[in-house]
Amino acid sequence: MTVPPPADPTPAADPSPAPGDLGLLVAGHRLLTTPDGGLPRVGELPDGTGWVPVGTLDGVPAWAAAAPDEATRPAGRWRSWRALAAELPEPLATLAGRAVAVVTFRRTHRWCGACRAELADLPGGTARRCPACDLYVPLRLSPAVLAAITRPGPAGGPTELLLVRHASGPTGLWALVAGFVEAGESLETAVRREVTEEVGLALGSVDYFGSQPWAISGPGVLLAGFFATAADPTAEPEVDGRELVRARWFPVDALPAELPPAYSISRWLVDAVVARG
Ligand SMILES: [Zn+2]
Repeated sequence: MTVPPPADPTPAADPSPAPGDLGLLVAGHRLLTTPDGGLPRVGELPDGTGWVPVGTLDGVPAWAAAAPDEATRPAGRWRSWRALAAELPEPLATLAGRAVAVVTFRRTHRWCGACRAELADLPGGTARRCPACDLYVPLRLSPAVLAAITRPGPAGGPTELLLVRHASGPTGLWALVAGFVEAGESLETAVRREVTEEVGLALGSVDYFGSQPWAISGPGVLLAGFFATAADPTAEPEVDGRELVRARWFPVDALPAELPPAYSISRWLVDAVVARG
């Protein structure tokens, strides 16, 4: 999949979809799928307005639009991004996540923040512009970080990985420490701050692992994953009981079964730690 740069205000040569293009209809955090679980074509959907280009898939343009009201919404299987990400092969899940982010941005950025005029779409892109004062409003992302923190195990034993349980969300999972980046922080600084705030540990090394667009915690979230080591291998984590309810070290050869799902960067990080041994 190729994704046009969201900040590019240049109108596309032909900013209207063809019947054979992919059409991603978004209602809240759900998308319409075909009976076989795939993505519909624009020609199979009711005449819609406001199609936004979200990229191409194998050369086929893909478009996203907000679904009509419930009364006139096309019948079909409306599925959450979480369900699609678990089942659709990449890059379909990424495309679906981008559609949710773009449609949500349009719905929640209707008025100019400077002069209160109604924003206009820029054809061929995701950004909007104020027709009165010319303010340019691109789709902004929210970066968040996650850390796979390790320490040496007991002599001769395997490395240990810190896993945590949250007070809300998927409370049954053993997850990684994570949090949003604050203004003025680098990703690495955010990792160190979040880890200190959430489990009271200081870190030694912090090394970049990879990133993943993530449509579950809110549209436009971009996750960046890091390997990290505990500065003091004898230090034990402490949780405040509000955001996190548990935190503990696990030997990497005896991790719990309740790990993050296979399509998440959390799981890719955990698997990478296990592979390192
Ligand atoms: Zn304005």
